[in-house]
Amino acid sequence: LEAKEEFSHKTLAMDVMRPRRNDPPLTVITQDSMTVEDVETIINETTYSGYPVVVSRESQRLVGFVLRRDLIISVENARKKQDGIVSTSIIYFTDHSPPLPPSSPSMLKLRSILDLSPFTVTDQTPMEIVIDIFRKLGLRQCLVTHNGKLLGIITKKDVLKHIAQLANQDPDSILFN
Ligand code: ADP
Repeated sequence: LEAKEEFSHKTLAMDVMRPRRNDPPLTVITQDSMTVEDVETIINETTYSGYPVVVSRESQRLVGFVLRRDLIISVENARKKQDGIVSTSIIYFTDHSPPLPPSSPSMLKLRSILDLSPFTVTDQTPMEIVIDIFRKLGLRQCLVTHNGKLLGIITKKDVLKHIAQLANQDPDSILFN
């Protein structure tokens, strides 16, 4: 007896992830093309707990995930203590620094704060499975991809809101979760 399968409306990861259809795109950081100033702007203009790192905006290939608090500390430290780090310094998360003209300012390597294997699911994953994964692995967030491209993010709070909604629509469903 599989009670869960009786629900006709199967919610998928893509229905719960952010951004929603008309929202502004996900705030991401590129792996080797943003400056210290670009990243400081993101830190100042958003409050998300973390940011996916992608190869490039065009590709949206996921490289990893960086926590906001680690980013703040690292950039502040580098500004204070690392010689040559200025607003126009490139930040890179790759193993090797990107090729830039010799006249460019010093670059800032932040690979050590990058989580290289953030948990991901595809957009078609049923939310039942996503909820299970969050519970079993104690996740804080999970990234959503489609054909290897980053589409969105689901946080623990998003999952909890979704569960609360389910319980509202159908109080019995919570029993099976
Ligand atoms: P919480 O969900 O605990 O409030 P966040 O502050 O990280 O955690 O996220 C707030 C909302 O913004 C959530 O709905 C989440 O899905 C979404 N979100 C999280 N990170 C990003 C991001 N980098 N870009 C766009 N939206 C995000």
